[in-house]
Amino acid sequence: MDLSILPLTQPKARPQDENALAFGKTFSDRMFVMEYAAGRGWHSARIQPYGPFSLDPAAAVLHYAQEIFEGLKAFRRRDGGIALFRPMDNIQRFNRSAERMCMPQVDEAFFLRALKELVRLEADWVPRSEGTSLYIRPTMIATDPYLGVRPSDTYLCYVILSPVAAYYKGGFSPVKIWIADEFVRSAPGGTGEAKTGGNYAASLRASMEAAKLGFDQVLWLDAVQRKYVEEVGSMNICFYLDGKVVTSPLKGTILDGITRRSVLTLIRDLGIEVEERALSVEEIMDGAASGRLREAFGTGTAAVVSPVGQFTYRGHNAQVGNGQVGELTLRLYETLTGIQYGRLPDAHGWIETV
Ligand SMILES: *Cc1c(COP(=O)(O)O)cnc(C)c1O
Repeated sequence: MDLSILPLTQPKARPQDENALAFGKTFSDRMFVMEYAAGRGWHSARIQPYGPFSLDPAAAVLHYAQEIFEGLKAFRRRDGGIALFRPMDNIQRFNRSAERMCMPQVDEAFFLRALKELVRLEADWVPRSEGTSLYIRPTMIATDPYLGVRPSDTYLCYVILSPVAAYYKGGFSPVKIWIADEFVRSAPGGTGEAKTGGNYAASLRASMEAAKLGFDQVLWLDAVQRKYVEEVGSMNICFYLDGKVVTSPLKGTILDGITRRSVLTLIRDLGIEVEERALSVEEIMDGAASGRLREAFGTGTAAVVSPVGQFTYRGHNAQVGNGQVGELTLRLYETLTGIQYGRLPDAHGWIETV
């Protein structure tokens, strides 16, 4: 497929202070767009100036949420070059999400080429300060102007770019987690494994309640027994318990995070055993109380590794370790960001230069 590059007539002023960029509010000059029609396939792939779309008010995505997205980052390396972190993993997951949501597959090699071309053209939008990055958001939406409930015949796929400040501006500090047993994020047979907007819409209520009570994030339990740990906010979660790292298995209700995958590899590199198994809320609360739970951390592209200092379940508080950032958590954060920014060697072939 051809990729046309449309001229940019009115470049925006670039942000003055890249350390003050709020997440997801500033967008670069250009975006990638392609369209799909049943019988014709993907067509009209182009990089064009960033701007609003014109959508029919009946467009399927606006009514029945047939939508998927991805999130990855481009990093400014020490040598001035730009790197993507495991981009093919994101593209493959995009296709898995598409399959679950009855949406068309994208050509993985073409999509990677388009993504790299877009980042190359927008290279000046990759910030340079410590900890900053360019967040990349691939998205696919159903566009049929039809109110019947069925998979759309037409789709729009696009990629937008947003420069972001360092996640840990106020320091790398532990968060307080509220364990929700009234709300669930995903159920067996549902869409928990797909990166689709509806999962997020469904999670807002619990996040609001948690925030109202003074917590930073929600920890989701399984929908059936409300007993086993699944994810935290929109991150995967790991527990350093009895000298091993325990995390929920990929059984369809949690997202197969690329940060999760990478962190598990780094943990094994350190000679620490990893267990992917169901972990009950009692194990966590008891482990925290007895000191056997030394550390807990969320993993995701935005935060990389997010240390947990406290869990609260049915009114009981349990401090993790000494409530400070754990040694393993810090080490994983330093190693992963070191690889991403080019401070450390890329032993696993995770870096794709642009
Ligand atoms: C995106 C996402 C994650 C993290 O995935 P990464 O690939 O590590 O960024 C975890 N859980 C949910 C629900 C997500 O949407």
